[in-house]
Amino acid sequence: TTPQPTAQPAAELRLEGISRHFGASAALSEVSVTIPAGRFTVLLGPSGCGKSTLLRLIAGLDRPDAGRILLDGQDITALPPAARDLAMVFQSYALFPHLSVAENILFGLSVRRVPRPAQRERLGRVAGMMGLDTLLDRKPGQLSGGQQQRVALARAVISERPVCLMDEPLSNLDAKLRAEMRVEIRALQQRLGLTMVYVTHDQVEAMTMADQIVVMNGGRVEQVADPRGLYARPETTFCARFIGTPPMNLIAPDDLALADGIMPPGTLAGLRPEDIFLADQGPEAAVEGIEYLGADQLIAARIGRSRLILRLPARQGPPPARIRIGWAPGALHLFDPSGRRIAV
Ligand code: ATP
Repeated sequence: TTPQPTAQPAAELRLEGISRHFGASAALSEVSVTIPAGRFTVLLGPSGCGKSTLLRLIAGLDRPDAGRILLDGQDITALPPAARDLAMVFQSYALFPHLSVAENILFGLSVRRVPRPAQRERLGRVAGMMGLDTLLDRKPGQLSGGQQQRVALARAVISERPVCLMDEPLSNLDAKLRAEMRVEIRALQQRLGLTMVYVTHDQVEAMTMADQIVVMNGGRVEQVADPRGLYARPETTFCARFIGTPPMNLIAPDDLALADGIMPPGTLAGLRPEDIFLADQGPEAAVEGIEYLGADQLIAARIGRSRLILRLPARQGPPPARIRIGWAPGALHLFDPSGRRIAV
């Protein structure tokens, strides 16, 4: 059996009122988030929302214009990267092509003058854990993408730092390998009790790996929640549309024949595609298209002036041209004109 690495002391990160401008534009505006010790936190959002900027600030590769970064209560905002207790894995892996796998993994320990016997002992342990034992003498160019990714992970793990930062580490891998590495990274994080901060724009990665998801949009935090909470109770229309495939339908309430006068003007009603079913009564919709997916089918329909997607079991067969729809009472989400969730 593979020797188990010693558990690392976890550390909590706190970001307080972080802002960062580039020229006149704000990449980050007053971002405040607690990243709990020993848990997997994903920074999730579309391209340009500020995820990488935030990770670089945590790593110390950049400085905020305002705000503080605390590691276990200690202000590290002004510390250089090397003085922070953090390991980082980049999208590019950043392996040295002329060094062997072993030398790449040990690079940081050599720089820190960790004694040779301790280096060898840690290398044996980590290489075993990461399935790299037989590849230690190879050069990065002689490895597959997944193996290179594993070397980059091993280099982070061997540092035995309690906090690990990863910026889109799987984006260069094909879909199958990505799915495998998701499981591997998650297992590693749990086994070592690492505090993970993981940047991605991929909602599936976020949903499958995270204890906590920080949804970012335009340099601001939209919502912080665990995956189930985020899906069940999106706080904004942005989160409602960003999580879920296809995204939540947002419909004018009168198109759903919801009682007029109860809701303030401009309210949007949200229904997830899988929360809608065919009913004998209820608002009528015209079917405009059917996408067969095997187990399910996606039905595109028009209801009043709104468009709507339903996810129905394929075994129900194709629906008729005109349908009536229903939904469970708890399935309806309501948002005010500014896009904030209304408690119902
Ligand atoms: P992606 O997923 O595409 O990497 P991201 O969410 O990581 O996007 P950032 O890279 O953090 O986004 O960028 C946030 C905003 O800040 C963008 O508008 C970007 O153009 C801008 N930005 C980032 N770095 C710089 C820089 N060094 N100089 C000027 N603008 C920058």
